[in-house]
Amino acid sequence: MKKNIILSLSAIIVFTLLAISCKKDDEAAKPEITLTEVGHENSKTAMRGDDMHLEADIVAEGLVKRIDVEFHKEDGSYEIEKAYTEGKYIGVKNTEFHEHIDIPEEAPLGEYHLHFSVTDQEGQTTTVEAHVQVVEYDEHEHHDE
Ligand SMILES: [Zn+2]
Ligand SMILES: [Zn+2]
Repeated sequence: MKKNIILSLSAIIVFTLLAISCKKDDEAAKPEITLTEVGHENSKTAMRGDDMHLEADIVAEGLVKRIDVEFHKEDGSYEIEKAYTEGKYIGVKNTEFHEHIDIPEEAPLGEYHLHFSVTDQEGQTTTVEAHVQVVEYDEHEHHDE
């Protein structure tokens, strides 16, 4: 019985080593990002003085190293940046990103670009973009989820 366990354990180790050595030759696929919700219920709007709900599905064969979220005004006059370099998203292959990004009260109203980037541990980066409208704060429109 004990011998069988040792045998199957060594088989697993051999297979794992084989899998690792085969993988070394070809690079991991670039990270894939699907922005599932930008703003509450994917409204693509955010209120200044509130936070914006953001959800994305991430698949990174090369394991996530960092996630960068950047909002900037179309004319580049204002920018909000947030980086995730540690925590539950880092070092994994497949994750669901869900965060709330603070939009400062003084943020100018209007149209923004959202750039959402994932960099894997092999240094490959994928960026997806969305347009977001920053509007005036309205307490009736505030959502916590
Ligand atoms: Zn949320
Ligand atoms: Zn842009």
